[in-house]
Amino acid sequence: MRDFLATRARASPDATALVDDHSGRERTYAELDAAVETTAGRLAATGVTRGDHVGVLMETRPAFVRLAFALQRLGATLVPLNARLAPTELHAQRERADLVLLVCDAETESDARAAADEVPVASVDDPHEADVLAFGDREPGEVTPAEWTREDALALLFTSGTTGDPKPVTLTLGNVLAAAGASAFKLGVDPDDRWLLCLSMYHMGGLSIPLRCALYGTTCILQRGFDADEAVRALDEYDCTGVSVVPTMLDRMLRADERIPGSLRFALCGGAPTPAELVAACEDAGVPIHPSYGMTEATSQISTARPTEAFANRGTVGRPLFGTTVTIVDDADEPVDAGETGELCVAGPTVTPGYYDAPESNAESFGPHGLYTGDVGYRDDAGRLYVLNRQSDRIITGGENVDPGRVAEAIRAHSAVRDVAVVGVADSEWGERVAALVVPTDGAEIDRDALEAHWDERLADFEQPRTVVFVNELPRTASGTVDRAAARERVVEAAGL
Ligand code: ATP
Ligand code: MG
Repeated sequence: MRDFLATRARASPDATALVDDHSGRERTYAELDAAVETTAGRLAATGVTRGDHVGVLMETRPAFVRLAFALQRLGATLVPLNARLAPTELHAQRERADLVLLVCDAETESDARAAADEVPVASVDDPHEADVLAFGDREPGEVTPAEWTREDALALLFTSGTTGDPKPVTLTLGNVLAAAGASAFKLGVDPDDRWLLCLSMYHMGGLSIPLRCALYGTTCILQRGFDADEAVRALDEYDCTGVSVVPTMLDRMLRADERIPGSLRFALCGGAPTPAELVAACEDAGVPIHPSYGMTEATSQISTARPTEAFANRGTVGRPLFGTTVTIVDDADEPVDAGETGELCVAGPTVTPGYYDAPESNAESFGPHGLYTGDVGYRDDAGRLYVLNRQSDRIITGGENVDPGRVAEAIRAHSAVRDVAVVGVADSEWGERVAALVVPTDGAEIDRDALEAHWDERLADFEQPRTVVFVNELPRTASGTVDRAAARERVVEAAGL
């Protein structure tokens, strides 16, 4: 097998591959293929060959897409690095990934040089510094298209580092092909699909889009950075049929000046829990939200709900993708029954063969049920999945494990509750105590007694919050998820603990 862009360029040379919303420039698959050949030649001229790891440090732009395919053409592994990392983090990732070359652009050049040490740096723009290789006008070297097997590493992607240091995940050609297929079986593919890319390409959700479009022969509309008004404008202007977002992005798009157009077939929404309110807002606005659970290690999606499923079943991420198996296990590693919570384990052709050069992490994370995700959730009688929280967010009170997501879900079922966050705070007697920050529905009357009456029949005694604080808004991180540390502080402050 050779690179799949070349195959696509032969199959549908005149189909539009890429539209750069910034410049308005469009390229067909034949044109993209030719541009990628030049980029591959320039990489070859700097000495990149089969099996090399090449870092790419830049925000989403067409040059990133060309580099991704050019590296595939040469049989090299793409290592996208997060352009927003602090210098020390970037340095650490650069070292972990064994790079032979780091490609940057004008914006990231100084960060790249600071992180590079002895690794050569090349810029796709005019370099500012003499020791940075000019890449754009380099005379292309000879390109020998590489042969690929499914086991070869197409990309090495770092996880987001929510629970510790980001881990480098090996994603093979087989993983990427399986993920594109399984996602298509869920979302469908129309030859006229246009998928808006407004995510970063150093996370799998963003990188997947141009790769999948090339496999499907469809069009990727590319934006540089995210702006809700601009994203909605682009959806309309290009008659987009798809978009991938994290929940906060979609929330902002629903509040944008213009309405999300009816051309949209799917809004794939993942990376963090989708608030029930957001799903309801999508139902009201006729936006085809597909709440999705995924992770870097599974080449993005694990499980995705269709809109009708999402509207009828609050909080679900639907059923696993075709070919993906999710097993939910208890602390003794035994599969649990429907309705019971446990750790989600995922297996199937989209799951990474392992973290790069990390035997300890691999021994810890893989077991009889596949990859142990560290996420806690359950399955309903119909086989739909619900993700509650990470294991590391579990509250241990008087020796009992409490999943805050479970408690939050039970409280949220009260009609006078708009939103809720459940956290553990230090308690001299119980180790931790369960506490809830509750946001009442606008205009609704609710007090602690009403909540207690509500949760008495839904929660075990040890799960019931000992402390309740009413607030107008939950503290959130920049990415829109509940800021658990800040929530804990609010509880401690308000309750005088
Ligand atoms: P690290 O593994 O380094 O701690 P990370 O897990 O945040 O970082 P990613 O691979 O980017 O890195 O994120 C995957 C995680 O995001 C999942 O394991 C899960 O915890 C969370 N997640 C993704 N989608 C959802 C969802 N729909 N609901 C709840 N959590 C989700
Ligand atoms: Mg993770």
